[in-house]
Amino acid sequence: MSIKTNLSQLQSQLPNQVTLVAVSKTKPVADLMEAYAAGQRIFGENKIQEMAEKQQQMPKDIQWHMIGNVQRNKVKYMASFVDLIHGVDSLKLLNEINKQAEKNDRTISCLLQLKIAKEDTKSGMTLEDAHSIIDSDHFKSLKNISIVGVMGMASFTDNTTQIKEEFTALKNTFESLKEINPDLLEISMGMSGDFPLAIECGSTMIRVGSRIFGARNYTK
Ligand SMILES: *Cc1c(COP(=O)(O)O)cnc(C)c1O
Repeated sequence: MSIKTNLSQLQSQLPNQVTLVAVSKTKPVADLMEAYAAGQRIFGENKIQEMAEKQQQMPKDIQWHMIGNVQRNKVKYMASFVDLIHGVDSLKLLNEINKQAEKNDRTISCLLQLKIAKEDTKSGMTLEDAHSIIDSDHFKSLKNISIVGVMGMASFTDNTTQIKEEFTALKNTFESLKEINPDLLEISMGMSGDFPLAIECGSTMIRVGSRIFGARNYTK
């Protein structure tokens, strides 16, 4: 099946309010261009350097989302163009993003990554961490970042009851944080294997890779 066909099948399943981030990590620019030609404008990458290289080679009306773990010393390589950073999990990282955004005379939008999976491998902060950041005077003094929502990854399991519980926990966290920060709009949850469930639980943004571009080959 072609990338174009995969995309249109996927789009036809999505309610209007749900944004599709096409996760293109490890895929060549030619594949991304195929998605671009089919109308896709939002791409997600999990390595800053790979994203920066693709950004240079591709049309400038693309919105680039950083969906992976962010190393603080690499924020500078994406600060001039990144549209949304999904995986923000500390105040230290927010400080660095703010600093680099200021240098580029921009405001960078961020999502706070919450830990919802029971697995230890998935990173993210607790509701209490997120609360205390959003509530702090220090955070309020950072003028070049904007927190626009939350992001989470469910456990890698076939147990849909568990996945649903985890997504619902993220939705509830979102609602609770929205009470202190009404700017929050986005709940980034759902991937190729679990996006219908995520949408059912209130996702506004899904991050889908293999369902669009095919399986990834990490051995190359
Ligand atoms: C790779 C990745 C995805 C997409 O995964 P698929 O299963 O290929 O859809 C989504 N979110 C994050 C954070 C990822 O790293």
